[in-house]
Amino acid sequence: MQKIDLLSLLFPKKCILCGKRVNNIICNHCFVAISKQNLFHLQNYSHQFFQKHLYMFSYEGEIRKIILNYKFNNQSYLLDYFVEIIIKNEKICRFLKTYDIIIPVPIHKKRKNERGYNQSELISKVIAKELNIKHFTDVLVKTMNTTPQSSLTKNERFANSKNVYKIQNIQKIKEKRVILFDDIFTTGATANSCARLLKENGVKEILIFTIAKDILKN
Ligand SMILES: [Zn+2]
Repeated sequence: MQKIDLLSLLFPKKCILCGKRVNNIICNHCFVAISKQNLFHLQNYSHQFFQKHLYMFSYEGEIRKIILNYKFNNQSYLLDYFVEIIIKNEKICRFLKTYDIIIPVPIHKKRKNERGYNQSELISKVIAKELNIKHFTDVLVKTMNTTPQSSLTKNERFANSKNVYKIQNIQKIKEKRVILFDDIFTTGATANSCARLLKENGVKEILIFTIAKDILKN
């Protein structure tokens, strides 16, 4: 949390959720309120390349505000909040630990350089360490710098996400149970493209794990 204390010297000391003047980006009251909700939402899928989707929040309201800040406003320190929410949730941790590997949905090298980080990778890396699960960033790679999914319609998203990922080092994933981590699940097009590659290359079972699910787009 040291990082946040430093930043609070540079930025106005206001909770981004309730506006209250405090020393953190999110005040204690709001953080506790968020963590106390039921965050374990599990859906089963039978017609996709992945079997299950676990998510914590609906992509709306305050959560949407935090994720957008995290993703686009270079506020990667917000990751501490998400990590803390995940790590402190016993039910989620117990479930994630039944898997062998966690892989973040990759972004293109060019975009990673522009942004300075892959927001999903920052989170999955810490989760992997905390839960003692393997974390691989050299298995799934994004080969084309496509239009961001957020600017497209549902049909365009499926076309946009086809053939833009490639897989390597497949010996690392053979017969394994894999968690594919991303920040938001919208239509599932990205998740399914990645899951397809994993499945076709020997992965036994795939869980999609996201911070939020865009209920309106489903
Ligand atoms: Zn607050």
